[in-house]
Amino acid sequence: MPQPWKPLTLSDARSVLQRGTARLWSAAQLYNSERFPHFYEAYKAGDYLQSVPRSDAVQIFRARAKHTLFLADRARHVWSATTACRLCGEQEETVQHVLSECWEVAGDRPSGWPDKPANEILWCGDRVAMSTAAKIMRMFLRRAMQ
Ligand SMILES: [Zn+2]
Repeated sequence: MPQPWKPLTLSDARSVLQRGTARLWSAAQLYNSERFPHFYEAYKAGDYLQSVPRSDAVQIFRARAKHTLFLADRARHVWSATTACRLCGEQEETVQHVLSECWEVAGDRPSGWPDKPANEILWCGDRVAMSTAAKIMRMFLRRAMQ
């Protein structure tokens, strides 16, 4: 068992990883609809994900796992005729495109929204950045699915 006041030993790290992997593996055995909450629970410790509202956290988690409803992600799982952005039609509809490139949702991004790679916001962003990213993605999907 790792002790918080001591440096992590190799065997501590190994046991933490094994426990995490076991939880992830058991989640992977589930059906799709049940899988995500389990993955989410397995990952959420020690991350800003746990300090944002759950609906935002699920959206961020899906984006991290490249399992969103954006066409470029969907095309890896189901056949689709195009992966072009449903709003602007100019580029591929990816998380990166939605978060910082698509001019159709420029108005949904707050002023001063960082022009960073999406992964940096999704994995290293603070609470506000993650919540905002989740909102931008939701706005996009709401408009794209109209
Ligand atoms: Zn676009």
